[in-house]
Amino acid sequence: MIASHLLAYYFTELHHDHVQKVDKFLYHMRLSDENLMDVSKRFRREMDKGLGRDTNPTAAVKMLPTFVRSTPDGTETGDFLALDLGGTNFRVLLVRVSSNGKQKVEMENQIYAIPENIMRGSGTELFDHIAECLANFLEKLGIKDKKLPLGFTFSFPCQQTKLDESFLVSWTKGFKASGVEGRDVVGLLRKAIKKRGDFDIDIVAVINDTVGTMMTCGYDDHHCEIGLIVGESLSYICTHMLELVDGDEGRMCVNMEWGAFGDDGALDDIRTEFDREIDAGSLNPGKQLFEKMISGMYIGELVRLILVKMAKDGLLFQGHTTPDLLTTGHFQTSFVSAMENKKNNEGLVSAEQVLRGLGLDPSPEDCVATQRVCQIVSTRAAHLCAATLAAVLRQIRDNKAAERLRTTVGVDGSVYKNHPQFARRLNKMVRLLVPDCDVRFLRSEDGSGKGAAMVTAVAHRLAKQHAERQRILNTLRLSRDQLLEVKKRMEEEMNRGLAKKTHATATVKMLPTFVRSTPDGTERGDFLALDLGGTNFRVLLVRVRSGKRRSVEMHNKIYTIPQDITQGTGEELFDHIVHCIADFLEYMGMKGASLPLGFTFSFPCHQTRLDQGILIKWTKGFKASGCEGEDVATLLKDAIHRSEDFDLDVVAVVNDTVGTMMTCGYEDPQCEVGLIVGTGTNTCYMEEMSNVELVDGDEGRMCVNMEWGAFGDRGELDDLCTEFDRAVDDQSTYPGKQRYEKMISGMYLGEIVRNVLLDFTAKGLLFRGKLSERLKTRGIFETKFLSQIESDRLALRQVRSILQHLGLTSSTCDDSILVKEVCSVVSKRAAQLCGAGLSAVIDKIRLNRGLEKLSITVGVDGTLYKLHPHFATIMRETLRDLAPNCEVTLAQSEDGSGKGAALITAVACRLRDAGK
Ligand code: ADP
Ligand code: MG
Repeated sequence: MIASHLLAYYFTELHHDHVQKVDKFLYHMRLSDENLMDVSKRFRREMDKGLGRDTNPTAAVKMLPTFVRSTPDGTETGDFLALDLGGTNFRVLLVRVSSNGKQKVEMENQIYAIPENIMRGSGTELFDHIAECLANFLEKLGIKDKKLPLGFTFSFPCQQTKLDESFLVSWTKGFKASGVEGRDVVGLLRKAIKKRGDFDIDIVAVINDTVGTMMTCGYDDHHCEIGLIVGESLSYICTHMLELVDGDEGRMCVNMEWGAFGDDGALDDIRTEFDREIDAGSLNPGKQLFEKMISGMYIGELVRLILVKMAKDGLLFQGHTTPDLLTTGHFQTSFVSAMENKKNNEGLVSAEQVLRGLGLDPSPEDCVATQRVCQIVSTRAAHLCAATLAAVLRQIRDNKAAERLRTTVGVDGSVYKNHPQFARRLNKMVRLLVPDCDVRFLRSEDGSGKGAAMVTAVAHRLAKQHAERQRILNTLRLSRDQLLEVKKRMEEEMNRGLAKKTHATATVKMLPTFVRSTPDGTERGDFLALDLGGTNFRVLLVRVRSGKRRSVEMHNKIYTIPQDITQGTGEELFDHIVHCIADFLEYMGMKGASLPLGFTFSFPCHQTRLDQGILIKWTKGFKASGCEGEDVATLLKDAIHRSEDFDLDVVAVVNDTVGTMMTCGYEDPQCEVGLIVGTGTNTCYMEEMSNVELVDGDEGRMCVNMEWGAFGDRGELDDLCTEFDRAVDDQSTYPGKQRYEKMISGMYLGEIVRNVLLDFTAKGLLFRGKLSERLKTRGIFETKFLSQIESDRLALRQVRSILQHLGLTSSTCDDSILVKEVCSVVSKRAAQLCGAGLSAVIDKIRLNRGLEKLSITVGVDGTLYKLHPHFATIMRETLRDLAPNCEVTLAQSEDGSGKGAALITAVACRLRDAGK
């Protein structure tokens, strides 16, 4: 029959009839959109089952972890070796990846034969042979002396336990070498290479060919997170990146081994008699049922079985069959591709040739019917493939909580590439089933060769980047010796600050506070308190009751001090304060009242009396002019006089640390230390008068306000300071000052983190190297974000949304993990430094008193200390380690800077009244 004859026939009614005849016969094989949607849903359930720890053992789709956690980002470089075993040929490859300017991949590869006797011999022989081929290849390229990284594509079912460790479950594809099943194939290869001793290689990764496909496409398209192989002799596997279900962080590529879908009966209602026949005659009955419906290995055979049945039913070939038609495997899948050629008449010509080749004598009707059978079988394969792929896409979309998913599928395999209609049908059905995904299909070139090199290149890059990040983070990590050194230097500075001779040059000023005694419970009266020097400025009324029903009752109002006033003149600042007091008295209905006042003024002050404090220098961002060197009680009194509104009796100028200690001391007489870790950080404690050289008299004790935030200002911390500390210092209001505080307190920790993130991004180690304007903005990374990000209860996705909230939108899972690590390194260092300083204070108190063991309470205040999830714990551990002879209770003080100031005022009033 000639082509034109067939073509003419194609347009006749008769043609239509024959198509209908086949459609009717195979109606069970033609799946509707609803059928496919249903298959997709079932498959999604199978995936969940495979991913669940408890359900996995009985799941048909195994969802094997591959330990590949990242796709290429285009910055990979270097020379990599790859071995490809388990495809059509065994190959050795050298892949050169360069990223300078333009991404480029160059390959050299050599095919080696694996003789039949070696395939079925012993495992030792097989791996010796592989090592031999590798040696030959290296020799040929003259690179035998280089220890290159190697990726091993090993396309057999494996149980992988690490990126470079994989245990063969069972041989397939004609391999049968003994003593390999159940063994780690990387270990076997390493052993074979070592035995030779003539070259060395760094085996980095062992992968499956689907992973290779994904990674190869991922190099060209960074959205690629699915690899799909529709191959001739290869099993049908899809690999994709998933959030791991078992609580681990980040994503990992999962080798689905989806060919086993249906092995638990999930597809029984759509499998036909022909599918059952194929399965019954296969080497692995009951297994890989999905694969048997769609893979290239079975499509031709399915067509053959249908033709035989139709012939036997008298529907084709006038009821004749031939020995060829009756022989398994004689109808190849390539015939199907040929018969479905886009130009139908060419397809028909092929059909006739193929059928004649099988010894048949087909009529035009037979050719048309055969062509139709091919269409139905291959369309079903493409559509089933689309249904399962749709489930994967939906899963990825849900994992990302994205409305629309934009993703790329890397595809390889001869059916996809050679069948004229397969790709189009697959793409079209995927779009129909998941309309809210923008899917790009990218053909992978040599995924199993190049892919192994790509995985190796990525692993190599990740290892390099990891090392670089850790090198940087290590500068922020402190050893025990370093912490002991901090303790020692703090002790030295404390002694220098206390001694008259050295006080002037000491960084830790050890300021006498003239607070000599803690409350005894007999204090009573109404007091006003002011709290300046924290985040908020407050005015408080404190009612102290004595006797049996001791109590402290407080009322307070918060006022803001505008930025321009903190940076303006002293007069403006104090006028504003007085204005707030007047407002408060009116608010309390006490206008014109004259009460004793305690002034919590949390800046370093020289005191010669309790009711006087000469400001040494501003800290924590304040900079009002004309205050340094002045007595703040006088400045306040002057402002009160200017207002002529009311009168107050300023009884005490109090540091917030002292207030904190006093508040705790009211409840717990063992409390003799006050610590603040909030906007700033500082400590006070009860020192022996004999050591307080700045104040006359040797009797009893006095509370010393250490002003330890300035520790380090003579360079005592220079060897611990990082470039990030220097950057934060340079950008601060008082460069070179408050060095210890800048490493510890809430005002700076976020900034340190931001500077580390900036550096990482500039070095391409974070946010794909994209520096956003947001990240360059000072102050955006508030310290409260450290607390949020480091919270153990927070899932990675929430870290990401915090970053997004900060405008750092390009973040990936890996970025979130890294940001969290940076936060915890920075806050850990802060807590350890703080603990080291505190250990010096506590041990000094112990030695002052000549005690073996000291039991003491520290009153602590400050939002960073109170709200950060790990700060207190780490500080406590450090204390225990560095001051083992002290038993320290850390007590949170409630509002020390308010209540404490009133208590100090109350004690002073009690003493004053007693003196009267
Ligand atoms: P102050 O020390 O000024 O009296 P706070 O004790 O409230 O005031 O401390 C304020 C500091 O605490 C600010 O620097 C802020 O960055 C920090 N901060 C606020 N919220 C948190 C949080 N949730 N975790 C850690 N630090 C925080
Ligand atoms: Mg405070």
